[in-house]
This record gives sequence, C-alpha cells and structure tokens, in this order.
Amino acid sequence: MDSNDRRRIDRGRISVTKYQILILVPAGGGYGGVKMEKKEFVCIGCPLGCNVTVEAEGKEIKSITGNTCPRGADYVTKELTDPRRIVTSLVRVSGGELPVVSVKTAADIPKDKIGDCIKVLKEIELRAPVRIGDVVAENVCGSGVNVIATRHVAAV
Ligand code: SF4
Repeated sequence: MDSNDRRRIDRGRISVTKYQILILVPAGGGYGGVKMEKKEFVCIGCPLGCNVTVEAEGKEIKSITGNTCPRGADYVTKELTDPRRIVTSLVRVSGGELPVVSVKTAADIPKDKIGDCIKVLKEIELRAPVRIGDVVAENVCGSGVNVIATRHVAAV
C-alpha cells in the first residue's frame, strides 16, 4: 500500500484505506475516551514552593516535572489520589480560664471528611482543666485519627 492508496483525513477523525477499513483515532491523543490532562501545583513541602506540573490520564500519572526533590512528586501524587489535610479548630470549655481550647487532628485526614469533622467538634464541650495533648475526639469521622488539644486551659 503506498500513499496514493490511503486517504488520511486528519488525526482525531477517520482514516480510510482502499480496503474500506475505518480506523478511529481519538481526538486529543488518548484512547478509550480518556484524555491527557495537565495540572499545576505549588508544592508546600518547603519554603521553595516549586511549581510542579503533572500530566495524567484519568488517575494514571504519566509525568511529573518542576519538583526540585522527590517530596514534590510525593505531594502531587497524594493530592491527585488521596488529598488530606490537618484540621485545626476550637472546642468549647466549661469551668476554665478560657471559654474555648484550640485543637487539631493528630495527623492529616481525608479532605472530604473535613466538613463532618468540624461538625463533630462543634458539638463537643470539655470540662476544664484541659491539657496539651488531651484527646478531644477519638477516631474522628472514622478517619483513624484523634483530635487533640493544642493548649492548656486551667480550671477556675
Ligand atoms: S519539591 Fe522539594 S524543594 Fe520543591 S518545594 Fe517541594 S519539598 Fe521543597
């Protein structure tokens, strides 16, 4: 088959040969309807704040560029597949020198549990004294992570 035998109509449309075989070539270069996407992140791993670019097809990461160290790649991979955050908030305290105590999750929790976590913390009222590291909520929202106090509130 030489070039005269084949009429190619654009990549992204249809190619026709003299044998009447239709070859479908998806627009955008992907197959199975999955398109390559490019996403940009600013790495929060250190003050350098590298601009990291990720190319992915669906959840499959094809390339990561712009990170100065491997922590940048870890960060964007986590952001794309399992984004998580440390949650900080306030919880009411009765009988203490302050009416509230600052709290935080002892580790990061899935981003989609943050709203529920805040709701749980709004319902809690602690009795003074409260000490740094006291567990305020165990296994918050089934995340496997405790919420702990981050300051001391003495009883009065
Ligand atoms: S990629 Fe590495 S050097 Fe760049 S901001 Fe992240 S942790 Fe810092």
